[in-house]
Amino acid sequence: MNLHEYQGKEILNSFGVEIQRGYVAQTPKEAVEVAKKLTEETGTSWYVIKAQVHAGGRGKGGGVKLAKGIDHVEEVAGQIIGMDLVTPQTSAAGKHVNQVLVAEDVYYPGESETSEIYMSVLLNRATGKNMIMYSTEGGMDIETVAEKTPHLIFTEEVDPAVGFMPFQARRVAFNLGLEGKAFKEMTKFVTALYTAYDKSDSSLFEINPVLKTSDNRIIAVDAKVTIDDNSLFRHKDYEAMRDIREENATEVEARAKGLSYVNLDGNVGCMVNGAGLAMATMDLIKQAGGEPANFLDVGGTADAERVEAAFKLILKDPKVKAILVNIFGGIVRCDRVAQGIVDAYKNIGTINVPIIVRLQGTNADIAKELIDKSGLNVHSVIQFQEAADKVQEVLA
Ligand code: GDP
Ligand code: MN
Repeated sequence: MNLHEYQGKEILNSFGVEIQRGYVAQTPKEAVEVAKKLTEETGTSWYVIKAQVHAGGRGKGGGVKLAKGIDHVEEVAGQIIGMDLVTPQTSAAGKHVNQVLVAEDVYYPGESETSEIYMSVLLNRATGKNMIMYSTEGGMDIETVAEKTPHLIFTEEVDPAVGFMPFQARRVAFNLGLEGKAFKEMTKFVTALYTAYDKSDSSLFEINPVLKTSDNRIIAVDAKVTIDDNSLFRHKDYEAMRDIREENATEVEARAKGLSYVNLDGNVGCMVNGAGLAMATMDLIKQAGGEPANFLDVGGTADAERVEAAFKLILKDPKVKAILVNIFGGIVRCDRVAQGIVDAYKNIGTINVPIIVRLQGTNADIAKELIDKSGLNVHSVIQFQEAADKVQEVLA
């Protein structure tokens, strides 16, 4: 589950990570109210107004703007709220901005230069350990840094048995070229950040930039936080932060029905029982010259009701040119599933795309007969390869 910047910062702050302070606002008038409150608390007289959408690169798209004084807040907030923000990470249509974060300006002049640092915490799947990735080249696309100047990216892996150690925090601060107060602040910052990542059951933190202010404080200016969905049952407070306006409508509906669905870009819809088989099926589709339109695991109990719900979800995607159903009848009986497919088809009415059904396992032969006799636009096969051939045939 992805969070908005302001929510991510709230979580960081609850673990003692220093952040650029601010309040969220839904209207330009409310932006002025919270800006006043912010000034009472921090003394700031300049504000940065930031679009709250689930996409990065907001600055480049005009979604982050400075208001140099309370008199400008309403106007600047008015420019951002309601806009369809296009960034390198959104579609061409952009993302509608419902709310802004009004934050204190932290790029004020002082005894030293401000500098922007990149920092993320994530799981390194190759080593099975969490790691902190960081760079002096903050504020830029980390992909560009990785491509052009990979030697400026550092990593620090965390041994799960001992946790993040003080010497590691010092190494981070050293590699970032910090000294004196900023060095000390960084060791505190990165330690608190790792604790926050660990305790919040997150799967990604990306803080770009972490700012060294002109008075040598270290603070999180941005926060991209992804919470591991599988941990949400023990974080009801985080789950309440979900903003479904930012999510794919079909994925939201699938979740409500207990189906595991991820929308993809291709043209072949898939309905499969079991995540492993679903992955293999997607490979098969690619091999046959198609592109999967989705990942969909209907689960162990592929009954008529679930099959119908799954068909309806897949058919919502106008890109779908064929549907491949791949069910292994281990616990479920294939003839039950076949009957479910036939019933679902009739309930939905006309389905204008060919359906290829591969049923293997218990009663596969009876299932094939059931489908073949139904008279519907459904091709039934038993072997994996036949299914691939059929996909190729209907796409041609
Ligand atoms: P992103 O573009 O979606 O990654 O949004 P960020 O939160 O990273 O903000 C984009 C850029 O806005 C930052 O890299 C900064 O250069 C700038 N910015 C953010 N906060 C402030 C601030 O308090 N003052 C000034 N002057 N610029 C800021
Ligand atoms: Mn950023």
